[in-house]
Amino acid sequence: MSIAEQPALSADLATVGHWIAGRAEEDATRFAPVYDPATGEVARRVALAEAADVDRAVVAARTAFADWSQASLAKRSGVLFRFRELLAAGADEVARTVTAEHGKTLDDARGEVQRGLEVVEFACGIAHLMKGEASEQISTRVDSTSYRQPLGVVAGITPFNFPSMVPMWMFPIAIACGNAFVLKPSEKDPSASLILARLLAEAGLPDGVFSVVQGDKVAVDALLTHPEVDAVSFVGSTPIAKHVYETATAHGKRAQALGGAKNHAVVLPDANLDVAADAIASAAFGSAGQRCMAISAVVTVGDEAGDALSAAVVERARALTVGPGAADGSEMGPVISPEARERVAAYAGRGADEGATLALDGRELVVAGHEGGFFVGPTVLDHVTPAMDVYKDEVFGPLLVILRAASFEDALALVNANPYGNGAAIFTADGGAAREFRSRVTAGMVGINVPIPVPMAYFSFGGWKNSLFGDLHVHGREGVLFYTRGKVVTERWPERAHGVDYGFPTQT
Ligand code: NAD
Repeated sequence: MSIAEQPALSADLATVGHWIAGRAEEDATRFAPVYDPATGEVARRVALAEAADVDRAVVAARTAFADWSQASLAKRSGVLFRFRELLAAGADEVARTVTAEHGKTLDDARGEVQRGLEVVEFACGIAHLMKGEASEQISTRVDSTSYRQPLGVVAGITPFNFPSMVPMWMFPIAIACGNAFVLKPSEKDPSASLILARLLAEAGLPDGVFSVVQGDKVAVDALLTHPEVDAVSFVGSTPIAKHVYETATAHGKRAQALGGAKNHAVVLPDANLDVAADAIASAAFGSAGQRCMAISAVVTVGDEAGDALSAAVVERARALTVGPGAADGSEMGPVISPEARERVAAYAGRGADEGATLALDGRELVVAGHEGGFFVGPTVLDHVTPAMDVYKDEVFGPLLVILRAASFEDALALVNANPYGNGAAIFTADGGAAREFRSRVTAGMVGINVPIPVPMAYFSFGGWKNSLFGDLHVHGREGVLFYTRGKVVTERWPERAHGVDYGFPTQT
């Protein structure tokens, strides 16, 4: 179904609205449909903000920033500790909401809430994380101290594939650092953001420190150009990441924009092929391949290992139970939209037309009782070459391509020639090869016999090349640096009153 064919949105549908200055708001003149991807039905509608709505949220944030930035570290971490407890207690509600709108399995949704919770726990340590440095006696009776201070109002613009976790990569740290935060979630699965807003308010966060504006490009562009927004964190596809980074920085804002990915797994002939096949099948088809760290390209070294690995991955993929995310036993849910399903099918067909072997074709999959759902089965294309579109483009669905390389060096060169550089993994029993890969691969997150090497909250998450525009990755130490700016104070306290000295200070 194309956008033009979407059913008219009935006003009887429940509305997912904004959260501005501590209040829920549902009034809007534009709305978009929010689907249940497991049935294909429109379940509710989401309000789409105009520039004036964004302005109200930003003005409220600027006002709230004045007091929040001056609140003690103990007060700020106290709010986060309470939010952590409320979120842990409400994790199931968040996960069920994510599954209802995104389609991923409940287990997967619970996993994403847990990963978000870990960032909240990291942010609870803000008193330690914001400590500066000090040097006594940099000159006679002169001392220097450095501080990290909040930026002001920061915006977060997030993708559909992790509607609770990706916002939590951002706002817990931004808020803990003393900023006010305006979130623009994906319009495809907007409801989780409102649960988070309610829990923050219950935790005692002052009104205006955290707001949610629902919307599309209109809201995004209003945030990117608003003079009172100091910084922008973005996660989404590469073309939009580039637009966000360029527009935000052109308007004088600090920006970090995480983009798309084509994550490779290199499998050497000495790898345990059963272990590698288990890991690759789960990393390629978990969450229907809609993870920024999903493995979407495998590069095998040596024909024999390639054939065995390909057969083993296909066997596992064929055995996957595809069904509604909320149903017991479902291992893979639907994709997010009819367009996403059509995209996967079109790339599978194009790859086959270009000469790849369609080793597993998920295009005709039908889930009984859910015929209208946006389901597409696991699909594997073998003997893919780097020139094929199905390799060059990010497909973002349950479609895995397998390429063959003659040697470790060829495989590494192939990975490094790819314009994306989010994650890369190697499967091998050879420590020397693993070390070489770790050192020379041009990706921001590297797995050694680990298919999805997502850093824990206290490390930082981010890719290289077209997977990140900006300098700092999200969460961990780099998250704290992104949401703060440095100040260095030099102070002299004379022992006793003395006359003015216009000379250059020296270290005597
Ligand atoms: P998307 O780029 O379509 O949307 C992301 C956000 O940008 C949404 O909030 C959306 O409303 C907004 N947006 C969309 N079009 C816009 C436009 N023309 N102008 C301004 N704003 C616009 O991404 P998506 O489909 O929601 O998410 C999937 C993508 O996100 C994939 O490419 C995936 O690889 C990427 N992703 C990357 C990471 C990472 O860490 N690098 C993490 C998660 C997802």
